[in-house]
Amino acid sequence: MLFTSTRNNKLRVKGSEAVLSGLAPDGGLFVPVELPKLSKPDLEQMLEMDYPERSAFIMSKLFDELSFDELKVIARRAYSTFDGDPAPIVGIDENVWFMELYHGKTHAFKDMALSVLPLLMTALKEKAGQKELCLIPVATSGDTGKAALEGFSGVEGTGVYVFYPDGGVSATQRKQMVTTLGNNVCVSAIKGNFDDAQTAVKKCFTSIELKEALKECGAKLTGANSINFGRLAPQIAYYVSGYLDLVGGEVIKMGEEISYTVPTGNFGNILAAYYAKKMGVPIKRLVCASNENNVLTEFISTGVYSVDRPFLKTMSPSMDILVSSNLERFLFDLAGKDSMVVKGWMEELKSTGRYDIGSELASKLKDEFTGGYAEESECVDAIGYLFDEYGYLVDPHTAVGYAVGSAYSDEGQMIFVSTASPVKFAASVLSSIGESVPSDDKKALLKLEKVTAFDIPQSVSDLFGMEERFTSVISTKEVQTKIVEFAKKLKSQQ
Ligand SMILES: *Cc1c(COP(=O)(O)O)cnc(C)c1O
Repeated sequence: MLFTSTRNNKLRVKGSEAVLSGLAPDGGLFVPVELPKLSKPDLEQMLEMDYPERSAFIMSKLFDELSFDELKVIARRAYSTFDGDPAPIVGIDENVWFMELYHGKTHAFKDMALSVLPLLMTALKEKAGQKELCLIPVATSGDTGKAALEGFSGVEGTGVYVFYPDGGVSATQRKQMVTTLGNNVCVSAIKGNFDDAQTAVKKCFTSIELKEALKECGAKLTGANSINFGRLAPQIAYYVSGYLDLVGGEVIKMGEEISYTVPTGNFGNILAAYYAKKMGVPIKRLVCASNENNVLTEFISTGVYSVDRPFLKTMSPSMDILVSSNLERFLFDLAGKDSMVVKGWMEELKSTGRYDIGSELASKLKDEFTGGYAEESECVDAIGYLFDEYGYLVDPHTAVGYAVGSAYSDEGQMIFVSTASPVKFAASVLSSIGESVPSDDKKALLKLEKVTAFDIPQSVSDLFGMEERFTSVISTKEVQTKIVEFAKKLKSQQ
């Protein structure tokens, strides 16, 4: 399986290079030259598999440098860190299902991919004979950061540096990151929002000076943000698995269509759903749900992508994003794999803050995705409604999905992707179910447990007694120098 770039469709690289560099040299994103297909016998064979094996099966279609057996070892190890089934489907009503992707170590769906990625990278690095230290800068809107820190902490030959927007993440999200243990991890808050952090990290990949400075430390940059294809591959697996679970549970027959609703920020999660559909999973509707930062809703309805709007801080901070990086991969398909067209749009976005794909492509876009957004009050109502009506507790991101997607759940089976545990957003969840919120974060968690009987995982309650190791707040201009300092430190440790 070879990969090409969304900004240069002549390029051909192996999976190992796509995963180990993260971003293409031209600034584009790596995409498979040809997406593999899942045949009916493939799906039938997967029906009998458990989750890690299904995941390995999907990855083996995408990364042929590794065997199915090697990938099974990786997936088993990665998902052994989960509490039970990594992607259980919970039905609350006839047509309404939630796929809970938050049973990993950091309690958000980012664990689904970031528990696999370090193992995948290490295995591909070995195959490719690469010796350099992989230095991984990560921009996070809240959940990727901790999942990357947990995934890479202690993994030999890697170092991870996380940048999060100062004041832009929940109390628990912040605590989780700044208390991370390990010698190959580092965290800084950034003065700015998530888009600023993401732009600063993306810039690192095209900086010649940084590349040279890191070379002297024997290090090389690697991307672990959702623009790395190594993140997408394990995500495709749960869309296949969710479908098979409904078939296995005799809710639907093999071949019957279902729909998915995905709370969306950087467009990574929903892109994985789109890829699953293209590979052969019978998916009818893909609902792309946004919060009040509704740039994607507008894009899907008009074909115009415009970031000329205020950046709003909402109760679903992991979706507070205006520049959805992974959209570029979908645009590449939409443009008939014409990388010059994609490049043109991306350059326009950079220079003018908008691009227009034209009415013909806009109508194709609408065939693939149903867009919608939830206002803050609708998100609050969704949390309250699900709890009062079904005794089912969801976090604000999942609630955005429900608020938008429930309009379509009478069409057939609908799976709502549940992206984070309610415990990560205790304050917002408490107030949404009509409770007062204690100002102390730990007390808020304990109250959530008391009034909802939702289990607070030990790893979360322990956080509040842990030492904060990383307290620096830096400007985006300092990002590259900080990375070099970190690389020097890692080198001296070797
Ligand atoms: C990252 C995240 C999202 C958005 O996912 P994308 O892949 O960026 O679209 C939604 N919910 C939660 C809880 C997240 O952490």
